[in-house]
Amino acid sequence: MNFTHKKILIIDDSADSRTLTGHILRQEGYCNILEADSAQEAFDIIGLDKSFDEADLAPFLDLILLDIVMPEMDGIETCIKLKASPQTADVPIIMVTADTQDASLQRAFDRGAVDYVTKPINRVELCARVKSALLLKEEMDRRMELAKDLAKANKILQRTALTDGLTGIANRRYFDEFLDNEWRRCRREQLPVTLCLMDIDFFKAYNDAYGHLKGDECLKKVAAILAASVKRPGDLVARYGGEEFAIVLSETPEAGGCAVAKRVMKEVAARNIIHEQSTISDRITLSFGVAMLTPKAATPVNDLIAQADRALYEAKKMGRNRISCPGLKKI
Ligand code: GH3
Ligand code: MG
Ligand code: MG
Repeated sequence: MNFTHKKILIIDDSADSRTLTGHILRQEGYCNILEADSAQEAFDIIGLDKSFDEADLAPFLDLILLDIVMPEMDGIETCIKLKASPQTADVPIIMVTADTQDASLQRAFDRGAVDYVTKPINRVELCARVKSALLLKEEMDRRMELAKDLAKANKILQRTALTDGLTGIANRRYFDEFLDNEWRRCRREQLPVTLCLMDIDFFKAYNDAYGHLKGDECLKKVAAILAASVKRPGDLVARYGGEEFAIVLSETPEAGGCAVAKRVMKEVAARNIIHEQSTISDRITLSFGVAMLTPKAATPVNDLIAQADRALYEAKKMGRNRISCPGLKKI
């Protein structure tokens, strides 16, 4: 592996030592070497202490060679500061020291330095340590990249697992998890949860008359209308199954659920999806069942679902294309 293009920063207050180190590394083929005679100059070069935008323009480093004994800020303190900054936290640091017994060397390792070279600089030692630190950095970067790819893939997988493939809204699994969480939260805070279940009327006949592909298109249109019909970030629209959909409205009374159902009804009518086989209309319609409960200690979430389901059944029985909300006297 060729590392000669890697950017190396030498921080050393001694001009002789800096020049010699730079000279050896350049002879070795490294062509991207920066030098700083103090911690402060190094921070200026790196862009530490600057605003984020400026820092972005600062040179990206692959390795730092850091002298321990320096006036003003010494190598240990400099190492601490470099490791604490997001810009340089992952840049390997090799300490340069005249005294390998120096207790401060241990402190440097404790603070994240990866290696050291001794003064006076020895060509073979310097080149070997620089190369192995760059190799290590390369491997770490590769692993970091892999971990990032993995996290991204996981996120996509997670989203896919919770999304309905046809309509793009939440699927049943997500609905179950979401409702369960909301149920427990609202139980703790004694808040109402409203559930609206809806079902496309005579959808089997629609499929039979226009084909499954048209049926799928219709489901997508209805899902899009539902998604646009809720306004609060905490509301959930999901495909409950087949041609049935659900809307969960936490901290909302029944009247709110009915208002959303009415909005959906109006929008679906406005879309004018022709359904000549429907016996109650010449276009697609939906039936709605709305229920609300404020969970008590022992109330299972299924009570809310069963109540909304019963209301939906009632809406079907009463002639379809309507909202049934037993909790409200008049809709
Ligand atoms: P009702 O008015 O009583 O609700 O009658 P319905 O025909 O809508 O209800 P039923 O439960 O008898 O039929 C539901 C139909 O929904 C059956 C099936 O063909 C259709 N369906 C379910 N999932 C899908 C889907 O993903 N795509 C398509 N195209 N059709 C689906
Ligand atoms: Mg159905
Ligand atoms: Mg139906």
